[in-house]
Amino acid sequence: MEGLRIPGPTPCPAEVLQAMAWQMINHRGPEFGQIIQDVTAKLKRLFQTKGDVFLLTCSGTGGLEAVIVNMLSPGDKVLSVSIGFFGERFTTIAEQFGAEVIPLHYEWGRVADTDDIRRALQSEPKIKAVLITHNETSTGVTNDLASISSVVKEFDKLLLVDAISSLGSIDLPVDEWHCDVTVTASQKGWMVPPGMAMVSVSPEAWQAHAKAKMPRYNWDFTKAKNYLEIGQTPWTPAVSIVFALSVALEMMLKEGLPNIIARHARVGKAARDGVKSLGLSLFAAENCASNTVTAVATKDGLDTKKLLTIMREEHQIVLAGGQQSLAGKIFRIGHLGWVTEDDIETIMSALRVALPKAGMLLGREK
Ligand SMILES: *Cc1c(COP(=O)(O)O)cnc(C)c1O
Repeated sequence: MEGLRIPGPTPCPAEVLQAMAWQMINHRGPEFGQIIQDVTAKLKRLFQTKGDVFLLTCSGTGGLEAVIVNMLSPGDKVLSVSIGFFGERFTTIAEQFGAEVIPLHYEWGRVADTDDIRRALQSEPKIKAVLITHNETSTGVTNDLASISSVVKEFDKLLLVDAISSLGSIDLPVDEWHCDVTVTASQKGWMVPPGMAMVSVSPEAWQAHAKAKMPRYNWDFTKAKNYLEIGQTPWTPAVSIVFALSVALEMMLKEGLPNIIARHARVGKAARDGVKSLGLSLFAAENCASNTVTAVATKDGLDTKKLLTIMREEHQIVLAGGQQSLAGKIFRIGHLGWVTEDDIETIMSALRVALPKAGMLLGREK
């Protein structure tokens, strides 16, 4: 359904879906070896990195777990900067594996502050790594990762980034911003079905990895590296997702990364302008609003659950609600991957009809 406008899974172009129907091949044979080397080389261009990139068969959360178990030892102090639902998930994973987490958590909807991060790093010199969400999908907020990175690197700490809903859509030059491990997932901006996480690993991350003692097996970066050298993955990968990814990456490189980033910036602005023109308010401050997902604050009288039902049943457009404490308080429009300004126009036209039916009073009637 092309009316799927949630922040992942996202719609896939027909060519990508057709690749999902290709016959299986030997994942330890030369043909697959060629594809995985090609896919990895293309991913490096889109990650803007000369470091390593690996494909892990899992959703984004598996990638986040991979970061923790490959980089840390039990008892390691980490500063976990969270601005929403996914920041808290990253925090929880670190805690579950025995890291000593120092939380720097913000009210949902806010952006992380570099001065707070500097103060936290100053007051605890033993911190080994900083966990950060680049784009917080639950609130529609993008952190200023370039500035955050420069603070983290002032203190020479590892920078571990959840870029699941930003990489490939919002500019994130992994090497230039010194991201040590960066995670994304196939079903977000990559126009590919769910099933694969993609992670980059910097030279500094490899040094940390060599000393990191958390138990790991499935996610071990050393195993991933050794197998990639012979054109394989350690375990059977989601072969069809790799096929789909190979087609999607070809399309992305044809469009060009700067054009993709600019398109998302235009689409993001169109979404925000559209929301405001309907008399609704943005949940996030506009200077940190995300170009891949827009969170819309609920107005008095507006029943978001009813709105999402009307949008789905009468307009064939699927939007997302709020997560956890934001349930009923916001709804979200996903606009990442295969999306244009026309798609935003379609959503806004449908919202114009659906909003009054879902209880929103128009300005004049109030
Ligand atoms: C989607 C998302 C996740 C979780 O990914 P899954 O693929 O559902 O495991 C984590 N962080 C962010 C920022 C996301 O957008």
